[in-house]
Amino acid sequence: MTAETELLIDKALVAGQWRDAERRFPVTDPATGEVLAEVPDLTADDAREAVAAAEAAWPAWRRKTAKERAALLRGWFERIMAHQEGLARLMTREQGKPLAESRGEVAYGASFVEYYAEEAKRVAGETLPGHGADKRILVFREPIGVMAAITPWNFPLAMITRKCAPALAAGCPVVIKPAEATPLTALALARLAEQAGFPAGVINVVTAARPAEIGEVLTTDPRVRKVSFTGSTPVGKRLLAQCAGTVKKASMELGGNAPFIVFDDADLDAAVEGAIASKFRNSGQTCVCTNRLLVQDGIYDAFLDRLATRVAELKVGNGLEEGVIQGPLINRAAVDKVQSHIRDALDRGGRLICGGEPHEHGGTFFQPTVIADVTDEMRVATEETFGPLAPVFRFTDDEQAIAMANATEFGLAAYFYARDYRRIWRVMEGLEYGMVAVNEGILSTELAPFGGVKESGLGREGSRHGLEEYTELKYVCVGGL
Ligand code: NAD
Repeated sequence: MTAETELLIDKALVAGQWRDAERRFPVTDPATGEVLAEVPDLTADDAREAVAAAEAAWPAWRRKTAKERAALLRGWFERIMAHQEGLARLMTREQGKPLAESRGEVAYGASFVEYYAEEAKRVAGETLPGHGADKRILVFREPIGVMAAITPWNFPLAMITRKCAPALAAGCPVVIKPAEATPLTALALARLAEQAGFPAGVINVVTAARPAEIGEVLTTDPRVRKVSFTGSTPVGKRLLAQCAGTVKKASMELGGNAPFIVFDDADLDAAVEGAIASKFRNSGQTCVCTNRLLVQDGIYDAFLDRLATRVAELKVGNGLEEGVIQGPLINRAAVDKVQSHIRDALDRGGRLICGGEPHEHGGTFFQPTVIADVTDEMRVATEETFGPLAPVFRFTDDEQAIAMANATEFGLAAYFYARDYRRIWRVMEGLEYGMVAVNEGILSTELAPFGGVKESGLGREGSRHGLEEYTELKYVCVGGL
């Protein structure tokens, strides 16, 4: 058996049992259309069973010492990294991203497991001076309880570990509902966790083709104490409303509309490379992908020239092929959205610099595209394209750039390139975003708090802040001393 077939699991995991169902749904390779596997299409009843299993596993799981939980997480991390190549190939086949990016995602996703294996041992409460001579104040940090993770297809592995590693470290069992396009990576991860020795019921994976039915259970069942969602803003709003009925805690990692600002004094080569990495990674299908390039007058033409040259060099193809930089889009709807944004921008006076059409490879492959002279009334100004379209806007001064960057209901990631240190501070402080990258095109790391403001979300993932999302504070007043 090769590493890849060993990782190809076609059953869901509920209460420590690999579960099949009468109804199944296909998982296809977006590069070839090939059906890779059929996985169980579970129902609301299965989801309730998974929640019950997690709830039953909770007392023993929270009683384990932090060090015992850390050892299991460490074992999971080592297994994920030992299977980096097999997991990466599986991910490329079900999701489409180039193999180099998939390998990077396995390492990035695993880094959360490693980090929280360490951080699990440092969950600390506090003792405070009492409010009377005979009183003392104790503050405990306790695990919140069963966590339900609902995750997207664009990062099939990392969005799961970014939620589950801190939850498990804090003492919370999990129920995972992976995206219907990419359940295979989730199931492979669960198999590796099982091999690492996680007890039955601590990790459950509910695969389903009808996410609303499962989402309804996970957001309304009182035994679920926390929902952690990564996905689109409309679905996040709906889930948040559903959580209100049981006053459930929720973390929301939602959509973005990232500006990438290039000032006149920027290092042009570095800015172009940053833009390529930030815009075209994962075919433009990441929440922190640049959605709008804002370029100052004095550097506008030079930047466009250089960008067009670099974009023309991007090799499009099956992510398994050597040298491919851009794979297919996830599905036909994704292609339709990119095309509608291009059409709208060109109809309203945008200038096509390169690309603009479906790629000759057919299917859901699309040409990397650059459109210049984009203005505020075009759809790309306010909507997340989630595809390989780089729209370039022009601006005159710093105040205008900051105003344009902030003119959106989103506030996830923002990027800018400049050299003047006063400008760097002004712009950094003026951007209403949860994350700002200065002279950098990629900012995700397990060491920093990831998350957005405004309609981009609630809560943070990564760093010690990501662990606190899975704990509750308990204040104990000790009197009569
Ligand atoms: P999506 O909202 O369509 O789906 C996300 C998940 O929600 C999937 O598992 C899906 O099955 C499930 N879902 C859909 N409808 C549901 C419902 N009614 N009830 C319960 N679950 C439901 O998003 P997507 O297309 O998979 O992902 C792309 C979006 O995710 C983009 O908007 C992107 O910006 C965002 N995203 C955000 C982050 C972040 O960290 N902020 C990271 C990655 C992706």
